[in-house]
Amino acid sequence: METTIRPVLTDTAPSLTLMDRCDSCGAQAFIRATMPSGTQLLVCGHHGTAHRPALVAAGALLHDETDRLTVARESGFG
Ligand SMILES: [Zn+2]
Repeated sequence: METTIRPVLTDTAPSLTLMDRCDSCGAQAFIRATMPSGTQLLVCGHHGTAHRPALVAAGALLHDETDRLTVARESGFG
């Protein structure tokens, strides 16, 4: 068997917390975009969806926790 080495494309930095707010509207941030320059942007689910095409086009690395939005609702979090 051959071992396939996958390129690392995921953001392994710590998870977003309630203290992380959207740079656009101040809501809780669920997406962190790390630009090629190292600059980090935080956006909520709404603005993450809105800005995703532009961020991806700019080469940003996206850390997406929007799946927690539904999980949080089901578990009563927040
Ligand atoms: Zn926002």
